[in-house]
Amino acid sequence: MRAAVLESCPGELVIDDVELGALGPRDVLVHTVAAGLCHSDLHFMEAKYPCPVPAVLGHESAGVVEAVGSQVTYLKPGDHVISCISGFCGTCAFCLSGRPNLCDHDGLRPDPAGPPRLRRGGETVHQFFDLSSFAEQLLVHENYLVKIRPDMPLDKAALIGCGVTTGVGAVINTARVRPGELVAVIGCGGIGLNAIQAAALVGAGRIIAVDRVASKLELARTFGATDVIDASSTDAAMAVIELTGGGVDHAFEAIGLKATAQQAFNMLRKGGTATVIGMIPLGETVEIDGFQLLMEKRLQGSNMGSNRFRFDMPQYIEWYLAGKLKLDELVSGSMPLENINDGFAALKAGEVARQLIVF
Ligand SMILES: [Zn+2]
Ligand SMILES: [Zn+2]
Repeated sequence: MRAAVLESCPGELVIDDVELGALGPRDVLVHTVAAGLCHSDLHFMEAKYPCPVPAVLGHESAGVVEAVGSQVTYLKPGDHVISCISGFCGTCAFCLSGRPNLCDHDGLRPDPAGPPRLRRGGETVHQFFDLSSFAEQLLVHENYLVKIRPDMPLDKAALIGCGVTTGVGAVINTARVRPGELVAVIGCGGIGLNAIQAAALVGAGRIIAVDRVASKLELARTFGATDVIDASSTDAAMAVIELTGGGVDHAFEAIGLKATAQQAFNMLRKGGTATVIGMIPLGETVEIDGFQLLMEKRLQGSNMGSNRFRFDMPQYIEWYLAGKLKLDELVSGSMPLENINDGFAALKAGEVARQLIVF
């Protein structure tokens, strides 16, 4: 099968033939229909996080089941599925206490001494996040997939696999924003727009979008932002405090930078919570004014929207089909696998919301 292979880190992707391993008893073979380009993939391509090579990246995808292993009863060939990096074992303390997104994934990967899931010639190709979506087929453990209704368009479904779940889940699951609360979202790319629309969905009192690109702020308004702040010309934290007369109940950082994470904390009112959704580069520290903790302000992380994806994703599909959740508007372009490097160049330039590889 054709796949986009990262051969060096940092580096670009090379389209090449990759062989799939045998179907394990709890594995599922999926024909990939669409895969989104996510900033996390870019972080690994740019070596901001370590990535063993060669590897097939990609983790936000949807497709159709082609075959299932001998012990799989949850899925059958023909089922439509979304992939999620939050594979769950179902037996660890995190899974059993309702936080399966923090599962250690024990028992979900093939035996390292045995044959790998992906190979090229004689060498092992690393399976990124246990998924590797930038390929015509996925060979994954069944607990990385959720079955969805067949009338849901699979290209829009792919977006739910990471970006939508991360942004919407941060608001609903991690921060649990209540109706009437004041919200600010820093960064209006794919993740930020989803945080904004989730805040609108739960009835936040005011939703302030912060970005440096005017076109993104305009888009933020269509996703439910009530106010916008152009951070290229003003101090965002000061502007939010002024606009709200003291700060917000919830600030969301949707970029992955030390400076904006600190800004999120600095725009809180007393008792407020800053939730960092973005991936801050490895080794960087975030500094806050310790005195502000006496004001019961909190700084917290959100991993993949604190999802329970087999519960959350079908719900997001229902909201989309009922016209309550915007997905079409998130897509700024689609392309064949061959053009994937152009897509990442556009993502790096920061001009796009979400782009899809369509197979
Ligand atoms: Zn992602
Ligand atoms: Zn677990």
